[in-house]
Amino acid sequence: MPLKTNKKTNKKISKKITQSALTIALSLCLPLAASANANNISLESMTKDITYLASDELNGRASFSKDIDKAATYISERFQEIGLVPMKGEKSFKQTFDIINIAPKKLSATLNNNAIADDHLGMASTIENINWTSDKDFSTHVIGKDDNMREVISGLNQKGGKHLVLINTAHAKMFAGYRGYFARGLNKLQLDHQGAIVMILTDDAAFDSINVSAQTKITKQKLTNVVGVLPGKKSKDEIVLYSAHYDHLGAAPTGEDDVIYNGADDDASGTTAIINLAQYFTEKGNNARSLMFSAFTAEEIGGFGSRYFSQQLNPDDVVAMVNIEMIGKPSKFGVGEMWMTGMERSNLGALLNESLKDKGTEVHQDPYPEQNLFYRSDNATLARLGVPAHSFSSTQLDKDKHYHQVSDDLASLDLQSMHQVIESLSVATQALVDGDITPTRVDINEVKGHGKIY
Ligand SMILES: [Zn+2]
Repeated sequence: MPLKTNKKTNKKISKKITQSALTIALSLCLPLAASANANNISLESMTKDITYLASDELNGRASFSKDIDKAATYISERFQEIGLVPMKGEKSFKQTFDIINIAPKKLSATLNNNAIADDHLGMASTIENINWTSDKDFSTHVIGKDDNMREVISGLNQKGGKHLVLINTAHAKMFAGYRGYFARGLNKLQLDHQGAIVMILTDDAAFDSINVSAQTKITKQKLTNVVGVLPGKKSKDEIVLYSAHYDHLGAAPTGEDDVIYNGADDDASGTTAIINLAQYFTEKGNNARSLMFSAFTAEEIGGFGSRYFSQQLNPDDVVAMVNIEMIGKPSKFGVGEMWMTGMERSNLGALLNESLKDKGTEVHQDPYPEQNLFYRSDNATLARLGVPAHSFSSTQLDKDKHYHQVSDDLASLDLQSMHQVIESLSVATQALVDGDITPTRVDINEVKGHGKIY
């Protein structure tokens, strides 16, 4: 779809621009552009931000690429221009940290003295050298034809330790999926657990002899979040966190005309939203609580940006986390309508809906509970620490043809709908910003933890 404009709304906005700009220009002599939309989310600046963040110039904003640094610099410069300050303990908006990459280097195995073919062998390992020669070196698991493979593998991941898994060939397709996923290597913030899951696709359910030999290569790489703060005027230590992830999938190596995963919806839209909410609340200038705006890296490869970030502050200080994910298109509830994940886990949604009553809209419940979306974005990391942390979205994930495709570009968005969602978020969260509402905490016993191995 081409860039949508709505004449009626544009007229209303330009009238407001003229009025507020006049007042400000006369009384404070501030430059016009910076304060033009003192009482609105600016459609113009929103459009400018997403146009750049979703452009081909950023080559899909893949974690570890040079291209994602351009996005980080752009977001930093916007935070600077808006007038935010860096997070306590940081010298700049860029929060750079190391991540440990564990790449599989070599893997071979024999079972009952038969060498296992390469494509029947897979491994997720945080151990540098494996040399298993008897079942004392690991625990053995058998996934039979009728067993739930996903459940077993995920259970072992939660438990940690060293495991050999014999997987019946009936699960060949799922085995290939896991094998491919693990072959890309693992990323860790800390190497705090020595564990491995070695998978063999075989109809043997027992063995007399075994030999597994494996090596991984462990290296360090840098990643960067971009975090800006608008200090509170009254309750400085209480933080309202607005977040989104600015990384995406990069570019496909060869082939077609369009190889760039622009990630316009996922999640240049959310990143644009936090920049423009920062601008809006800064211009209003009366936030009682501190507002923190965080653009996370590495969401698409395991949420490492938010995991690092969550260790740099006291989660008890975070009153709420409004994580914004894919708001670039109308939701199944209509144009400009959004929904949130995990609504039942805190009363944040109910409180926000109180504020939206006059606007004649509401935050809807996640319409895709079977997709486990509460766990599929950066909010889950903070929720594990008790923060009322939810993702706000408008995606129609069940039928969006552009999701994780190169066609997720600017032309596929409905900027008018996106603008309405950001405006609704500004209205919905005003009472949070003012310190008038405090949502209940998430029960950490009800949130599933991160896996130990992958
Ligand atoms: Zn994504």
